[in-house]
Amino acid sequence: MSALVLVSPLAGWSTPLEEVPDTVFAGRMLGDGVAIDPLGSTLYAPCDGDVVLLPETRHAVTLRTARGLEVLMHLGIDTVGLGGEGFEALVALGQPVRTGDALIRFDLDLLARRARSLLTPILVVGGEGTLARRVQGCAVTVGEVLMEWVPAGAAADRAAARTGAREARSRTVRVALEHGIHARPAAQLAAAIAGFEAEVSLHAAGRQANARSVVALMTLGVRGGGQVEIRAAGPDAPAAIEAIEAVLSAAAPAAASNTPSSAPTSAPVRVAPVQPEPLRPGAVLRGVVGSRGFAVGRAAVLRVREVALEEAGGGCEHETRELDRAQALVRGALEQARSDAAGPAAEVIEAHLALLADPHLQTRALSWIGRGKSAGYAWRAAIRESVAALRALGDARMAERADDLTDLERQVLLALAGEQAPASPALPCGAILIARELLPSQLVGLDAERLAGICLAAGGATSHVSILAAAAGIPALVALGPAVAEIVEDTALILDAEAGELHVDPGERRVEAARARMMRNAERRARERQAAQRECRMADGTRIEVLANIGSLADAEAAMRNGAEGCGLLRTEFLFLERRQAPSETEQRDEYQRIARVLAGKPLTIRTLDIGGDKPIDYLPLPQEENPALGLRGVRTSLWREDLLDEQLRAVLAVEPAGQCRILLPMITDVVELRAVRARIVAASRLVGRTAPIELGVMIETPASALIAEVLAREAEFFSIGTNDLAQYTLAMDRGHPQLAARLDGLHPAVLSLIARTAEAAHGHGRGVAVCGGLAADPAAAPILIGLGVRELSCVPAAIPGVKALIGELTLEQCKRWAREALVQESAEAVRRLSPAPAGKTGEPAPAGA
Ligand code: PEP
Ligand code: MG
Repeated sequence: MSALVLVSPLAGWSTPLEEVPDTVFAGRMLGDGVAIDPLGSTLYAPCDGDVVLLPETRHAVTLRTARGLEVLMHLGIDTVGLGGEGFEALVALGQPVRTGDALIRFDLDLLARRARSLLTPILVVGGEGTLARRVQGCAVTVGEVLMEWVPAGAAADRAAARTGAREARSRTVRVALEHGIHARPAAQLAAAIAGFEAEVSLHAAGRQANARSVVALMTLGVRGGGQVEIRAAGPDAPAAIEAIEAVLSAAAPAAASNTPSSAPTSAPVRVAPVQPEPLRPGAVLRGVVGSRGFAVGRAAVLRVREVALEEAGGGCEHETRELDRAQALVRGALEQARSDAAGPAAEVIEAHLALLADPHLQTRALSWIGRGKSAGYAWRAAIRESVAALRALGDARMAERADDLTDLERQVLLALAGEQAPASPALPCGAILIARELLPSQLVGLDAERLAGICLAAGGATSHVSILAAAAGIPALVALGPAVAEIVEDTALILDAEAGELHVDPGERRVEAARARMMRNAERRARERQAAQRECRMADGTRIEVLANIGSLADAEAAMRNGAEGCGLLRTEFLFLERRQAPSETEQRDEYQRIARVLAGKPLTIRTLDIGGDKPIDYLPLPQEENPALGLRGVRTSLWREDLLDEQLRAVLAVEPAGQCRILLPMITDVVELRAVRARIVAASRLVGRTAPIELGVMIETPASALIAEVLAREAEFFSIGTNDLAQYTLAMDRGHPQLAARLDGLHPAVLSLIARTAEAAHGHGRGVAVCGGLAADPAAAPILIGLGVRELSCVPAAIPGVKALIGELTLEQCKRWAREALVQESAEAVRRLSPAPAGKTGEPAPAGA
């Protein structure tokens, strides 16, 4: 059987089947294909064939091609219940049709009101073969190529024939942007390929997005450190991929989103549950830290009026013109503002400009206008659909990007209503702004000189407002809850955006004490910066080493700038990613040697390849796995591909001076794996003529390794606890799962007791014990880890000065006490509540970076 090309039977937006809110279609139980969100009201034949199924309800139709393949089209979801209302068949059962013939006319407006969803699956049913090509994540018109189905044998032949070309057009990369693909990087991505002809899409976790659509890119839900596949087709595809890759692998600028003091830690940063209290003098509201800091001032209340709009439109043409006009006005204003802005404020404006031109938002808005709605209603509906999609990702960081869309909604609605954006309120000096929510454009319009702090009822820790506030050095608390609305103008406030508290009308004495604390904080920050290059000791002299987690030579340089005392984890798999083939033994050795030199004699812990699981490598195909996180990963992969392991070991063993490097094994579950690698180290040493021994340590990142730590400690020279995986495997929560992200907290008492057991076993055998997972940089966790016996913390370079400063103010006794208490708490949240309070308040240390 030969290939079959299907053209689009509808005009609309083509989306992956996974987005259809019906498990039968989304799960491909009937067949494979795409779903179209229709803009027109006629369904056309996507290929030649006979009408073999046309139910009385006329909500679906199936064609059979001359080669016996069936193509099913199902108009909307749950439309069988309409009993045929709104559908008119233009063909009869058994009738032969040609590509492009009209099949069914339907009432789009009625479907929009009555169907569960308008998404219309177009499926190839049965037949031994696969879809070799499908167009999705973009607008489609009737008659343009939508999919290509190839029979089983031909699919394999083609794949083989095209290998070279396909490699050139698809690349998997790690997203280095700390907060993942949120609004600004999405805008940069769309801008990066603006001049290219190629069709480019990004793929992650079964989702795909047109790389020209900022909204679609954001709804991919890709987080920092995650993997994304770039696919491109067209004459300049390789260059387009390079352009995308350059944006994805650029680290976020420090001031905007990488600042450790403003960036969230690996765990949720809510300090305590939101609990509105009656607003009597001295009341304390609790919220989430958006931008760390401390301020004393008086309330300036911001109230925002809703923009009124009509639902019904005055005709398609008129409303489309109106929307164009309003968007042009907003574009003009943004372009004007851009020329005066700098830093994060300029980036936010860029993101808004990109959103304004977003093809997905435009298509959706026009679709609502096509259904008889006004321009304002259509724009608001299009924005709110995307806001809902972002929130549905369950990823707090992405949900917070919805602020930018809401901001743009308001700007366009104001332009439609012929109103200017309201002038920013004049602020008194030392004002603490009180609002339900604050949009980025509103913050940019305020006089930062007079703004001492920001308190919002809503918002999130990584929303643009929080990022902008942190960049401007303005302390901010968000998610304070509705009680914020009860604060009256000019009330005295203490904003403690370190402990997450807002003190309302606290009285003269507390205000004075707060001012004194502000002074101390300023001094503390200056000390912290200066002290970062010194070795790290606790207040009682206990030595704690703070090292860096790195993945490249550039990371090593950043580590040294930030006062790292060595490298506690070199993730060597990152040297293998973003390449077409594995680095040779010589390339590896040279890179390790360069890193060792940058570290200037300080320890370099080289972890053997941790590929598999969430870190696949294209050119090292692993067997297809049902559940990769529980399959060939880490040391298991190395022992399965001993050739790769041997090469890597030889490269590490050749690094000079011999004593600088140590080897760390990921995903260990028993001592047999450790022995197997040691035997290969002995053999490899012989080959490279090395006689000096090398320290060999194991990652404790599976519950098994923690439980048999005593056995492992007899043979492993050191332990490094990978709290990211240890939490994942102990709590049975996928570390990439968006809905579980907030609950996947390494401070869970179960994880802590495994850490305690590990540290005890290590000490029993005189072995060093480090933590190199995300918990090491978490100010609420570091004291507890030290209290449990950890003496080395390894974290991202930017977090090092803050971690060192925090440790310098702790005593071992304090940490041991917190650790004992942590182990008997009921939940991770309860453990977080034990976290040390800021200095000046209780005499306890402030969190890192405060
Ligand atoms: C960990 O699991 O905590 C760890 C440090 O390893 P990775 O994050 O590379 O899996
Ligand atoms: Mg790990």
